[in-house]
Order: sequence, then C-alpha cells, then structure tokens
Amino acid sequence: MSSEQLDYFTTLTSTVSRGEWKSSLDTLFVVLRKRFLFDNLAIYRSDEKGSLAEVVYARAAGRGKSREADASWGENIATQVISTRRIVMLAPEQPSEDRIAMPYLLGLPLDFVEGKGVLVFVRFGGPPYLDEQIPLAALAASLAARILERRQVQEHIHQLEQARYRAQLQDDFIATISHDLHTPLGFIKGYTTSLLRSDTSWDAATQREFLTIIDEETDHLIALIDRLLDSSRLQTGMLTMDFQPVALEKLVRDVALRVQGRSPGFEVVFDLENLPTIQGDNVRLGQVFENLLDNAVKYASHSRVTIGARKRERSVVLTVADQGPGIPFEHLPYIFERFYRVPSETGQRGTGLGLFICRQIVQAHHGRITVETVPGKGTTFRIELPIRQNEQGGPA
Ligand code: ADP
Repeated sequence: MSSEQLDYFTTLTSTVSRGEWKSSLDTLFVVLRKRFLFDNLAIYRSDEKGSLAEVVYARAAGRGKSREADASWGENIATQVISTRRIVMLAPEQPSEDRIAMPYLLGLPLDFVEGKGVLVFVRFGGPPYLDEQIPLAALAASLAARILERRQVQEHIHQLEQARYRAQLQDDFIATISHDLHTPLGFIKGYTTSLLRSDTSWDAATQREFLTIIDEETDHLIALIDRLLDSSRLQTGMLTMDFQPVALEKLVRDVALRVQGRSPGFEVVFDLENLPTIQGDNVRLGQVFENLLDNAVKYASHSRVTIGARKRERSVVLTVADQGPGIPFEHLPYIFERFYRVPSETGQRGTGLGLFICRQIVQAHHGRITVETVPGKGTTFRIELPIRQNEQGGPA
C-alpha cells in the first residue's frame, strides 16, 4: 500500500473514534467520497420483523441534492438487502435522457447493536459500480455501523441524564413547593405585621398599597394550592368533568381578556373559524387555555400570541402559538409530565404542574394536546377536542 493510500485509510478509519455520531458520519462520507463516487446515500434501520423502520441518516452530495431529506429513493433496494442480508447492486432498467431517472444503486448490510440496517448509495446516471470498489464501500459500511453504536451509547447516556433530572425534580418537589408557599406567606406576614404596628401610623395610600400586595399574594397562594389539589385529583382520577355545551369562541375570548387584564400589553390575535358548540367542562377547558396563555406571558414575554381554531368533521383543533424562544427539543418529550420544568437561568416562578394539568383535562375530554416548537421562533400548542361525547363520557 502506498503512503498516500495509508494516509487515506487512516483518515477514513479515524472518523469512528471522534465526536458526536452525526458529525462523525458526515466526515466519514466526505472522506469516502474522495475515492468512492456517489450522489446520495442513506442509512435505514429495520425492525425485528425485517421491515424498514426509520431513516437513520441521509446525505446528498452530488446530483439530486434536493433529495437529501427524502430517502424514499433507496427503500426498494434497502428492503432487498434486509431480506437477503447480502450486497445488492441495481442498474437502471431503461436508458433515459434524465440522469435522475437513471439510478445506479448499491446496498450493503449494516449490523449494529441496535439492530440491522442498510447503507445505500446512489449514482444518478452512473458510472456503474465496479467489483473492485465494493471492499471500500463495505469498509465504510462497517465504520458507519461502529459510529451508530456510539450513537446508541450517546442516546443511552442522554436518557440516563434525563431520567436523573426527572427523578431529581420529584425529589425536590417538597423543597420547591415549600419555597413557593413560603414566598407569598412571607409577604403577607410582613405587610400585615407592618400594618398592625402600634408605633407607626400609615397614610391611606400606603395602607392601600400594602393591602393590595397582601391581596395579590393571597391570590397567588390560592392558585398554587388549587393547582396542587387539581394535579393530585387528576392524577388519581378523582376530578370529574361536568360536561355541558361549551361555546368555544366565547370561552377563549373570555380567557384571553382575563389574562390581558393581569398582563397589560399582552397581545392576542384570533384566527377562529365558525366554531361549533362542543360538549365539555367549561371551567376546566378555560383552565387549559388560561395555563397556555399564562405560559406565553411568562416564557414568551413581549410576543404576540395567535389563537387559532379549525373545525373538522368530528372534532375541533385549537392552537395557541407564540413567537417566543421555543422549548429545546430534548425537553419536549417531558414537558407534560408532573413537576417537569425546563432548567433556565431566567428564574420564572413555576411548579411544572400547568401543562400536566392541561394534558389531564384534555385527555378527560378524550382529546389530545401536542406541542411543536422552533427554537428562537416560537411554540405552538395544539389541542384537538371531539365535538360530542357519548352517554358514557367517551367521544361520540
Ligand atoms: P411551570 O410554568 O410551572 O414551570 P408548566 O407545566 O406550565 O410549568 O410548563 C413546563 C415547562 O414548559 C416550563 O417550565 C417552561 O420551561 C416550558 N414552557 C411552557 N410553555 C412555554 C412556552 N410558551 N414557551 C417556552 N417554554 C414554555
């Protein structure tokens, strides 16, 4: 082997041991392409039954670049490789003027701990793969498999860290709640003691100011205790819903007004289709929207919020969209869990109960609540509610 070849293989194989799995795969295929031509490649994973389960990685390097996200071009050959566990090569069936319609495909089996997979290369319009190029492609496949094993380890570590953080939140619950109860109580006690001092006389304006603080902090305490009670009743299924006809449009407009009353300057835009009256619990549904709008005020301050609604055949889909900082992806799977909060330095007050309560209420209506977020652009909560419930309280 020449020293140039040696250098090449050293660079190629060293991609296995460095960094985050996706960037390792990027580097591997950049290096590979110096000696092995391809336009697109994709790695698929199969499930236990041998069906294609997911596209683990896709990359477009040459012609057909726009097809990077869509890896359907390789599904057919990938299925063949999975069933035979052999290298498969496919040449175009008919000649064509259009190179994109002339795919030369090479599929290689890929074994990694997580399961079985396939690496597929495509060259649009050729040149065909030569037998002597296969060992290099097979080496790339086995290096890719090692990198994917690292992905598995990295994902396990991430899951463990998440599990530890969630367990920690449960453990810290008493401390958090005690702190949240203590803060308003401290204000109430402090201002009451001041008002009661016999050695000082407060003018009427100051008295009013103190009483207003006491009043607000008492509201805060009541809200906190209500949340705690609701969350434990919802958790144990003890909170029953009082299903009545609900005029959704009025409900969301009233809630928005209430939140705006507390947060002057908070801008809400409505994009509501002619909404039907649905069967639901007025108070509880109001609580859902109030939580979502309060969160928008808290976490997406100064952002305008759009409340949208569309009617479907049997359901209504409502959206609450803000233009705030969004929620980091790694936290999304957990934000509806009890006590879950996204760690942040900005220090907003909260208990991690709001979204948990929203989800429980929506589920008690046989509906679904989901979230989509674009970091830096905003967050959209989407609620789908059935229009009717049957006698047993299920969706009609
Ligand atoms: P709390 O507000 O008491 O922390 P929630 O259950 O209402 O609890 O929300 C859970 C977490 O989801 C919050 O801690 C916050 O980080 C995040 N979150 C909720 N709504 C938004 C939003 N509109 N924009 C950004 N983050 C949000």
